Amino acid sequence: TVRTRFAPSPTGFLHIGGARTALFSWAYARKHGGSFILRIEDTDVARSTPEAVQAILDGMTWLGLSWDEGPFYQMQRMDRYKEVIQQLLDSGDAYYCYCSKEELDALREQQMQQGIKPRYDGRWRPEAGKVLPEPPAGVPPVVRFKNPQTGAVVWNDLVKGEIRISNEELDDLIIARADGTPTYNFCVVVDDWEMGITQVIRGDDHVNNTPRQINMLQALGAQIPQYAHLSMILGDDGQKLSKRHGAVSVMQYHEDGYLPEAVLNYLARLGWSHGDDEVFSMAQFCTWFDLDHITPSAAQFNTEKLNWLNAHYIKQADISSLAADIQQRLTALGVDTANGPDLAGVIALYRERSNTLNDLASSIAYFYRKPETDAAAAEKHLTVDVLPVLAGMAAKLENIAWTTESIHDVIQATVSDNGLKFPKIAMPLRVMVTGGAQSPSIDAVMALLGKDETLSRIRESLT
Ligand code: GLU
Repeated sequence: TVRTRFAPSPTGFLHIGGARTALFSWAYARKHGGSFILRIEDTDVARSTPEAVQAILDGMTWLGLSWDEGPFYQMQRMDRYKEVIQQLLDSGDAYYCYCSKEELDALREQQMQQGIKPRYDGRWRPEAGKVLPEPPAGVPPVVRFKNPQTGAVVWNDLVKGEIRISNEELDDLIIARADGTPTYNFCVVVDDWEMGITQVIRGDDHVNNTPRQINMLQALGAQIPQYAHLSMILGDDGQKLSKRHGAVSVMQYHEDGYLPEAVLNYLARLGWSHGDDEVFSMAQFCTWFDLDHITPSAAQFNTEKLNWLNAHYIKQADISSLAADIQQRLTALGVDTANGPDLAGVIALYRERSNTLNDLASSIAYFYRKPETDAAAAEKHLTVDVLPVLAGMAAKLENIAWTTESIHDVIQATVSDNGLKFPKIAMPLRVMVTGGAQSPSIDAVMALLGKDETLSRIRESLT
């Protein structure tokens, strides 16, 4: 059965590239009824932080990328790695190397001068008939993996196609440091093996590690997983995605007002396609997803498309959960919704017009506090010719039942009585009531805002 994993190093937040890797690994497991494993690769103690672990868990949870096993922490598996190192020493697949740093530096220097690519020369590598030097006293050795010296490592990468690396290009990797701690590539190997991973889906920055990992897996007698190396994600401008491009942290998208459905749908299409389908649910994605339709070339981020998807999902969202979210965003803006129209009604009126939840929240704040008037809009629309007409209309509004229809009727009557076009009245009304020249149908806005508040804003603008 299929077993995939997401194996982030907790050295920062969950970024867009990581989230896409997680999504593809998750969807592959879901599609095949397999298991998705979360493994935290925290052996780089200097750079790993508990905050980063939490940020990764939060990001995954927000996106709904649920894991079936884990999170496993590599730092909690040290004893096991050390056992496997011993196992490789015992089987002759690994050996102690007593080279000092000075010796290795000298070797490197010499190789560079000879124009050879610097690599360990195997001086402590045991071979039949070879006499090894006497281990120097008091020098703690590192452990090196005895990489095959002939042949090649070949794998059929599920994204990149066949990759072949000659073993001559690989030297004997250090798998345990002098203090006994296992190194990065080795921990990955032990984990992928013991966790029974069948498909390793990860960023193509790891392609160079794969031949070494395959050799070690082979030495352990492990089943070799399939590998799918995903191309990187570029920013809108074609450059490597970085902070310059704005939000790269998944939780920053949450803060900026994106729905997880939109981010997921967007990420799913980043380097993968299913015909012309652009909008689909995660349930649908999990039935469609396969590794054959992943583009080997780099995918380019497109904020406009993400915004378009977000707008789509905002329109579709359940109104009461939107209201709960918007409530929090308004509170964060210092807007108290207690004395104003029902939030769900206002959202219903506005959600067609918003790309993000933050846009939505800020564009409806005027329902709950007096808006600042946009000076340019006021100058354009609050013209002396029309102000007396509006004053007369305000008096009529005073006496009607406060519904969208009756408000509309009063505006319409004012327009006809004065031989004007509808916007000539609707636009200044907008400015007076909402502070700006853009809003949904003004009669509907006024109806929601309520008679007292609407008329007080109109009167204030007339004085
Ligand atoms: N921990 C690695 C990273 O965060 C991923 C290793 C892997 O997927 O094999 O880049």
